[in-house]
Amino acid sequence: MAAQESNIGRNLLGKSKEELRSLLESLGEPGYRGGQIYHALYAERRFDFGAMTNLPAALRERLAREVCIELPRIARSHRSLDGTVRYVLALGDAKAANIETVFMPEENRQTICISTQAGCAVDCRFCLTATLGLTRNLTAGEIVGQVLVALDDNRDALKPQTNIVLMGQGEPLLNYDAVMAALRILLDPEAVAISPRHAALSTSGIIPGIERLAQEKVRPHLAISLNASSSEQRDKIMPINRKYPLEKLLDACRKYPLRPREWLLFEYVLLNGFNDSPEDAQRVAKLLANMRAKVNLIPWNPGELPFRRSDPARVEEFRRILLDKGVLVFVRDSRGQDVMAACGQLALSESQTASEQAPVPAS
Ligand code: SF4
Repeated sequence: MAAQESNIGRNLLGKSKEELRSLLESLGEPGYRGGQIYHALYAERRFDFGAMTNLPAALRERLAREVCIELPRIARSHRSLDGTVRYVLALGDAKAANIETVFMPEENRQTICISTQAGCAVDCRFCLTATLGLTRNLTAGEIVGQVLVALDDNRDALKPQTNIVLMGQGEPLLNYDAVMAALRILLDPEAVAISPRHAALSTSGIIPGIERLAQEKVRPHLAISLNASSSEQRDKIMPINRKYPLEKLLDACRKYPLRPREWLLFEYVLLNGFNDSPEDAQRVAKLLANMRAKVNLIPWNPGELPFRRSDPARVEEFRRILLDKGVLVFVRDSRGQDVMAACGQLALSESQTASEQAPVPAS
């Protein structure tokens, strides 16, 4: 364990260009070498100093002795029929934990759903991650590392565009600094180079985090896990609503300074007989009136929790009502995507289960 812990400061993964420059200078090397490592690590995905041929051989050898690049380790992976791969990744540094990352191939792109915390403390009643509680926050390196591992593991079949969604385990806005440090690397055209237009962060509604995100120069799309048509109803499935009530949350959303081509995404998990009535749809339309918003309706995927799936006719009626009221609305299909439906619906974290063959919950 002592050896593992000593890697925390030595691991270059998650360091910004400025941090790498300073580190190289502290080693008595020119600062620009830090920029070269930044490019090799994040843009070229070279995880071995020996492969960083843009560096002199002596420096490569020195780096291999004195620092390291430690990616999350693939403990298990589960491939569903539609090509979706769910990874269970083992994190070694500090407090060991397992997290989940999902790789979803599509025709012209891949979407990677990443976790921001091991477990989650927010306790949404429809989310299996909630049953785990919070183990710990992830570091910036552990967040960036999930994307690098998924890209590298699928390197022979990558499509030109990569999307990322911060909708795995955890509430991203409760790990704000590490999440933003990771996003600055992921969205940097000189690093992982994912377009901010192809990135989305889903929150259960942490208002101070939304207000901070509003100030960021580069940021992903903001998605809100709504799931209810009134504050009273939301209280019953999302205890966070008692701290950040729906009215105040929507107020923060209205104040969110949307840029051209930016919109708010509201995720709505349809729970049969609880929040899927035509009256609910009418109320949701009213709540979102005059907002530049899209709604994703997510029919509940039967699992271990005491909810039932909405009838397809009811889903369609809900969709139709929103559409008639002028709300842009989509129904998520039931492929592997649904493992990342609302924030943290990555269900069966295997950090606490021994099952090797736990199915992808929604495939
Ligand atoms: S839905 Fe998101 S915020 Fe809610 S408990 Fe699950 S992971 Fe946490």
